[in-house]
Amino acid sequence: MAILERSEWYDVARDTNWTPSYVKEEELFPDQMTGGLGVSRDKWKSYDEPYKTSYPEYVKIQREKDSAAYSVKAALDRSQMIETADPGWASILKSHYGAIALGEYAAMSAEARMARFGMAPGMRNMATFGMMDENRHAQLQLYFPHEHCSKDRQFDWAQKAYHTNEWAAIAARHAFDDLFLSRDATSIAVMLTFAFETGFTNMQFLGLAADAAEAGDYTFSSLISSIQTDESRHAQIGGPALQVLIENGKKEEAERLVYMGIARAWRIFGVLTGPAMDYYTPLSHRKQSFKEFMQEWIVGQFERSLIELGLDLPWYWDQMIAEFDYQHHAYHLGVWFWRPTVWWNPAAGVTPDDRDWLEEKYPGWNDTFGKCWDVIIDNILAGRHEKTLPETLPIVCNMSQLPICAIPGNGWNVRDYPAEYQGRTYHFNSEIDRWVFQQDPVRYRDHMSIVDRMLAGLIQPPDLGGALKYMNIAPGECGEDAHKYAWAEAYRANPYAKKAA
Ligand code: MN
Ligand code: MN
Repeated sequence: MAILERSEWYDVARDTNWTPSYVKEEELFPDQMTGGLGVSRDKWKSYDEPYKTSYPEYVKIQREKDSAAYSVKAALDRSQMIETADPGWASILKSHYGAIALGEYAAMSAEARMARFGMAPGMRNMATFGMMDENRHAQLQLYFPHEHCSKDRQFDWAQKAYHTNEWAAIAARHAFDDLFLSRDATSIAVMLTFAFETGFTNMQFLGLAADAAEAGDYTFSSLISSIQTDESRHAQIGGPALQVLIENGKKEEAERLVYMGIARAWRIFGVLTGPAMDYYTPLSHRKQSFKEFMQEWIVGQFERSLIELGLDLPWYWDQMIAEFDYQHHAYHLGVWFWRPTVWWNPAAGVTPDDRDWLEEKYPGWNDTFGKCWDVIIDNILAGRHEKTLPETLPIVCNMSQLPICAIPGNGWNVRDYPAEYQGRTYHFNSEIDRWVFQQDPVRYRDHMSIVDRMLAGLIQPPDLGGALKYMNIAPGECGEDAHKYAWAEAYRANPYAKKAA
């Protein structure tokens, strides 16, 4: 019996747009769940997914990918890569797994919503595969760190982080609940797959895969490359959805969703990928600076896809690009200073050689961020470690849930961007964060940042000890300097290195 080519049957087989007879169409596809913005299902027929696959093809390929990733892991299990790697590398793995593993689980739920309530059959079809992709990603990224738990409790945070009120976990949940979990199918297609995945997961996954291979961690490199091949497929759900919206007079609504999605994704990756690339990855293994990566993947690629679709660049585009020069340096400084409150050991990444690299990639770094590190270095060398540790919490943005911070030293530009709503004052890191809030204040108004919770008396006693208890960070899990301050010794030998850098 001859077997037809996929292209000969695909369009018929994937068209599940039958006419319901037991319920009304609007009961089967309620606006609230589809987010179709009043564009009829008939109009959504023009949705054309760029990536076409069938179930047998999908299963065959995924099976091969899984067995490849698990085989690499099995083959290298005894290599003790983690034990012998630079401690900064282990910190990247821990921060990645904790922030991402259960985020994949949330993404699975989001794909499921598109699989059920997507307006077009092709969208539902792709999302069904996307749902299985995300399940695979959650499983892989829970399984791979698990073997390290017996030696290092911080790896347990791959599973634990999202179940706690640790501040970075609150920030990740706030963004992912907003973009993935509490949206209709069309908004998810735009905000998760187009805004978040097309640009930003590329960066975390491709950028880190390159750094991982450089650092000799082939297990992690093959794991996240394997994941990225799925992402690059199901991220294509959003593009054709945007086309349908634009063709049917919904350009403005579509842009709003894209802009909110990019704004939120940028903050998450700024705190997660920025320090990993520019500070935690040992200098000799760095491929590109975070800023270079952002320029290539976000400015270059995103701009092109926005323009190809006929969308305008976000109003905040130039401002966001300006932030590439400083925002992640500020987040890094904060994460390192508040290191007891994270589940990994931040690597300072500011040896004299590191600083030469930072000054080259970010001219002016020594006059701004370098000045803060100089104070920290003086305190470490004088044995005043307590002065390099926090006693309370920083001011946190009511949108990103990350510290409000920017450029210190010469060029100081730190300020609060407040907004009043129904008698409550909210604080924001930038006009961009405030703008997101203003798009839908009812959606965001009741959330309490970790600082709001402290002020409301929910964290007792209201000091670092009380905060660690509230965040469920047990002894042995608290972050500490990844290199136990060994990096600062270079300055004892040469006290002028920091000024001369
Ligand atoms: Mn994924
Ligand atoms: Mn995905």
